[in-house]
Amino acid sequence: MNFLDEKIQKDGIVKEGNVLKVDSFLNHQMDIDLFDKIGEEFKHRFADKNINKILTVEASGIGIACIVARHFNVPVVFAKKSKSINIEGEMYMAEVESFTHKCKNQVIVSKKFLTSDDHVLIIDDFLANGCALQGLISIVNEAGAFIEGIGIVIEKGFQVGGQVIRNLGYHLESLAIVESMDASTGVIKFRHQ
Ligand code: 5GP
Repeated sequence: MNFLDEKIQKDGIVKEGNVLKVDSFLNHQMDIDLFDKIGEEFKHRFADKNINKILTVEASGIGIACIVARHFNVPVVFAKKSKSINIEGEMYMAEVESFTHKCKNQVIVSKKFLTSDDHVLIIDDFLANGCALQGLISIVNEAGAFIEGIGIVIEKGFQVGGQVIRNLGYHLESLAIVESMDASTGVIKFRHQ
């Protein structure tokens, strides 16, 4: 069991509807020492990549991406959730269905901050069905930038996202992969990597 599996086992709460609550350390209260270890681990796993930018999506990806960025010495760009109409020509836009809130959001990134010169590491907290990642991938593709890799803190391996993204050929690294979880017993099982 790695440091993150242990933390999830200790403090994660399994909710109905395949939702894992980790808001005591990851996406509400944030454990910065843990984030730092996460950053170190991503740096190790993507050591051979030439990354000049980190891309994530608001809100819960931002804190993690910022600490990860310290390990790569690169800036972070986050896709903003926007209800307003895309200002024609100035923004890249994708539609993302939220797993936790069951609604659709437009996410936008300014063309100023992502260009065909960029070599991007995409970072997010969770991977479930892969909608958030598909949105970010389409924005990077629209910009003509290159995806060097994708780093996920917690992948729910029993949902389809991981397989979909790996089948697309991306270098996807998930620090913890939950194989199964049971809301009635609270038992969480991890995939050994
Ligand atoms: P996907 O787009 O892959 O279906 O879902 C990923 C997004 O939904 C993540 O950005 C994350 O914010 C949210 N999410 C998905 N599953 C969970 C979960 O079990 N717990 C929490 N806290 N967020 C989740």
